[in-house]
Amino acid sequence: MTKKMASKNTRKRAYSEAFLQYGFVNMPDCFGDRPKCVLCCKVLINESLKPGKLKEHLMKCHPGSASQSIKFFQQKAINLQAVKFGKTGLASQQLAAAVEASYEVAYRIAKTQKPHTVAEELILPFSIIMVEKLCGLHQAKILSAISLSNNTIRRKIDDLAADIHEQFISEVLSSSYPKFSMQFDKSTDIASWPTLIGFIRYVREGSIKEEMLLYEDLSTTTKCADIFNTVDGFLRKEGLD
Ligand SMILES: [Zn+2]
Repeated sequence: MTKKMASKNTRKRAYSEAFLQYGFVNMPDCFGDRPKCVLCCKVLINESLKPGKLKEHLMKCHPGSASQSIKFFQQKAINLQAVKFGKTGLASQQLAAAVEASYEVAYRIAKTQKPHTVAEELILPFSIIMVEKLCGLHQAKILSAISLSNNTIRRKIDDLAADIHEQFISEVLSSSYPKFSMQFDKSTDIASWPTLIGFIRYVREGSIKEEMLLYEDLSTTTKCADIFNTVDGFLRKEGLD
């Protein structure tokens, strides 16, 4: 192989952010940068990293999107990144971080007793603005992967509550001093619906811990029989003797 041929074979084309206007993001592999179409997900060879080639793909394969603005392709790229999540590598690490961030935000919203909607109405859009100013557009786009909708926050708070409940029930069950005390009180909520609230006190690693045990709707009335049946059913379900 001549020197000229060798240098031709090793020369690689580099991806440019400007190629997003033709609908292409970078999908580098061990052979160098490679353009990936955000519309059909096709990955072209490194040699195709030229405006002419990329434009040709856009006009030929997606004529309906050829006149779209760069914002349209940016959104497609974000969607594509979200789909890519779940596979191995950096993307799955980012997904795990996004899920963790979503739980952290939900936890803090629950602790401060703020409406769940503050996450999607204030926290996320403001965070994107701050990160874009400080770190750049690319980093700001990553924040879009964090799911902070009203329903998501509610689900995460439910998950966290269920996890805390599971943890202390297992602590009670595995305690070296398997005795505990409980306290219950019946009340009605703002809709006059009868509810039962319970607390548990138990020994964990030499110290006394106290947790909220249950918050149950009493289906009909707050008579002794209703309270007994609710508590009895709950203790049986959790395996507490
Ligand atoms: Zn395509």
